[in-house]
Amino acid sequence: VGCELAGILAALGAKVAIIEALERLLPIPSLDPEASKLLAREFKKQRLDLRLGTMVQGAAVATDGVILDLIPSPLVDPDLAGPAGQVTVEKVILAVGRGLNSAGLGLKALGAELDQRGAPKVDADLLTSLPGVYAIGDLLGPGRPMLAHVASAEGVAAARHACGQSAWVDYALVPAAAFTFPEVAWVGLTLEQAQAKGIEARAHAFPMRLLGKAQAMGEVAGQVKLISEAASGRLLGAHIIGPHAADLIHEAALGLRLGATVADLAHAIHAHPTLSEVMKECAEAALGMCLHLPGGR
Ligand SMILES: Cc1cc2nc3c(=O)[nH]c(=O)nc-3n(C[C@H](O)[C@H](O)[C@H](O)COP(=O)(O)OP(=O)(O)OC[C@H]3O[C@@H](n4cnc5c(N)ncnc54)[C@H](O)[C@@H]3O)c2cc1C
Repeated sequence: VGCELAGILAALGAKVAIIEALERLLPIPSLDPEASKLLAREFKKQRLDLRLGTMVQGAAVATDGVILDLIPSPLVDPDLAGPAGQVTVEKVILAVGRGLNSAGLGLKALGAELDQRGAPKVDADLLTSLPGVYAIGDLLGPGRPMLAHVASAEGVAAARHACGQSAWVDYALVPAAAFTFPEVAWVGLTLEQAQAKGIEARAHAFPMRLLGKAQAMGEVAGQVKLISEAASGRLLGAHIIGPHAADLIHEAALGLRLGATVADLAHAIHAHPTLSEVMKECAEAALGMCLHLPGGR
């Protein structure tokens, strides 16, 4: 949300600085680090002042704005940490994390089992420890994706379960998006996550700028990266930065759900000229047969 608001305000003409404690923008473990780098490059072109690896230690309201004290972030390697200093700004948007709001719900009084953050404990069917009481959405806390479409899927699953039907939410296949300029969207695993799970995985990328539709739209920044299992070509994840990334991601989300391989994506004919051709091009690159990349990959 911080990056989204920063991009909007910069586009409206404000001078914006992003102060980020970690070493990259969108430091989300399930997002390919290269997407963060590409977003940082685009943000710099949009004249955003990026202070990565930097922590705000204090803020003081002064007559001409708010003075922020910055320190090198202790959360990153010292060589990736930003310098100490001060920055004076007119307004501060604090966009760090979100908490769940369970205090006024009376869960404790009812005797519901809660975790240390106050989130009701639920089983695989989203049933709390109280018979017939389900919990969904942000109330469950950051252990699950705190996203609108997840809350919605959980609500439907809980309602179906309450009606005696079987339903579940597949948290491994939740697409996520940042509505920055350009957009960023991702689903499934990163290469690093796949390798950490002991999967022999590979990553292939295809740049947006080689796509006719992206050229015609004048939005050529970004790329698609597909993560697949080396031996089988089974799709493991997709990471997109570029125009309409948040719409494009669903081809990969469906592919993951169906157990598709990169060959399945590559052999599916995509209409031309469309942005979705980027998925096919990238899948072809994974097969080493991409017509629009030198050497096919
Ligand atoms: C700035 C911002 C931007 C976001 N952008 C996105 C996005 O682009 N895409 C995305 O997927 N997600 C986004 N999210 C996250 C998304 O909004 C939440 O994950 C989603 O709304 C969670 O749904 P929910 O039903 O669990 O909670 P909520 O939508 O918060 O609904 C809970 C409701 O319960 C009400 N309530 C609370 N206590 C009580 C009470 N005691 N009695 C009665 N009512 C009560 C609240 O007022 C609220 O209306 C964003 C969140 C923020 C803060």
